[in-house]
Amino acid sequence: MAIERTLSIIKPDGLKKHVIGKIISRFEEKGLTPVAIRLQQLSQKEAEGFYAVHSARGFFKDLVAFMISGPVVLMVLEGENAVLANRDLMGATDPKKAEKGTIRADFADSIDANTVHGSDSLENAKNEIAYFFRETETQKY
Ligand code: UDP
Repeated sequence: MAIERTLSIIKPDGLKKHVIGKIISRFEEKGLTPVAIRLQQLSQKEAEGFYAVHSARGFFKDLVAFMISGPVVLMVLEGENAVLANRDLMGATDPKKAEKGTIRADFADSIDANTVHGSDSLENAKNEIAYFFRETETQKY
């Protein structure tokens, strides 16, 4: 199995619900180690750039507005098969369809406010990590 890195974001609803710790515990318990963490208020430009792939979709404007409605937690998670392992922990995009015990099933209210983002491929993970973090901001322990 390969050691990978993936980008995780705890979205504004997760912060407003005060479940940062619970979510990070789930990552750590499954061997996903945060090697960089930052609390940040995204600007509109940053959120639009991050979700540029969705810019033609009907939900884009609302998605950007939601992502800047409060601060987020940006994290680089490292571990075996981190990209897929994180997606498994997150659950389906729509929390109503997410499996019991996943982060979205347990904490998310709706497809718009779905508590976490996670890179969906290794290639996207590399680009998304580089969008927010310099290599020197990641730590080894
Ligand atoms: N999204 C939405 N409405 C939709 C589909 C997606 O609001 O019908 C939002 C949702 O917050 C999702 C994000 O857009 O997390 C990115 O969509 P994607 O399909 O990449 O889902 P994800 O990878 O986050 O599960």
